[in-house]
Amino acid sequence: MIVRRQTKKIWLGNVEIGGDSPISVQSMTNTNTTDIEATVAQILKLENGGCEIVRVAVPDQEAAVAVRAIRDSIAIPLIADIHFDARLAVTAMENGADGIRINPGNLGGEEKVAKVVDAALYHKVPIRVGVNSGSIEKDLLKKYGYPSADNTDALLESAMRNVRLLEKYGFYDIKISIKSADVLTTVNGYSKLSGITDYPLHLGVTEAGGLIAGTVKSSVALGILLSQGIGDTFRISLTRDPVEEIRVGFELLRSLKIRQRGPEIISCPTCGRTRIDLFSLAEKIEDRLQTMKAPLKIAVMGCVVNGPGEAREADIGVAGGNGAGIIFKRGEIWKKVAEKELLSVFMSELEKMEYEWHKNKPL
Ligand code: SF4
Repeated sequence: MIVRRQTKKIWLGNVEIGGDSPISVQSMTNTNTTDIEATVAQILKLENGGCEIVRVAVPDQEAAVAVRAIRDSIAIPLIADIHFDARLAVTAMENGADGIRINPGNLGGEEKVAKVVDAALYHKVPIRVGVNSGSIEKDLLKKYGYPSADNTDALLESAMRNVRLLEKYGFYDIKISIKSADVLTTVNGYSKLSGITDYPLHLGVTEAGGLIAGTVKSSVALGILLSQGIGDTFRISLTRDPVEEIRVGFELLRSLKIRQRGPEIISCPTCGRTRIDLFSLAEKIEDRLQTMKAPLKIAVMGCVVNGPGEAREADIGVAGGNGAGIIFKRGEIWKKVAEKELLSVFMSELEKMEYEWHKNKPL
């Protein structure tokens, strides 16, 4: 059983982070923030996929002002991601940002940090202190030696220095991230960080890569940390449609039995016994599951030899036959359907089960 490390609880809009609150899954838009229509459309897609917190880049005043219109059109908390310019952080908060992500060390001095803190206290907005390998201060790079194979301690000192700076101005609604593109630095860094602070931690591997490399790197690093009870919120960074980040995030939580959202799919890899186009069937079913909420177990198997048996635990499943498929429920054969109708019959039965779940679920 995973024992969650206890952290201080903070609120980001209507989402609680840290303490005993659920580990939340975040993403970041990749639209131009000033293109309000495109940004809102992407966030609504993310919301539909289960995203609980979204971050947008705020590189200039126009983007900081655009936060207002975006915020008014979405339901989940919005974080403004800011570098270098304290005025952008203040404007984003004035325009309704629920949180800001800054690296206080690159805002141009303590006076500017103090202004951001004043605004955050006034608007009751938490701050993520986000340091990463590329933003470590020059004096720390020198102290710990640069280039260095392991910059964990430099990351930690940079993060805690920035946290102390906020505390100096009376600010404690903080969460921390120390992101690296390296899996072992990420694991080592967050493990150490969790031993020296009780602020909630935002986990992530930065610049993790595309779907496969990014999923593997993030799952290894975050899987180790989450299984040790470390981490209160996270983002899986992928060079892909951000909706994929949410899919991977919830699969990671599901695989560790931390949280479950929507149906779980098990599917066989296929072999010489398969007589239908199982890859395309599995992909289409998986796509259609993304907006479903019922915690059903679904099996998509290549043949009847092992299909129903291997998927006995499944609520509903399909096993390929010769030009046809057998639909089974809880391990028992329910119906044989021609391959061309298989997807529609299967999905209509599944949608009925989803409907029943919504009808019967406790309020
Ligand atoms: S379920 Fe059937 S088709 Fe799929 S891998 Fe097992 S034996 Fe092969």
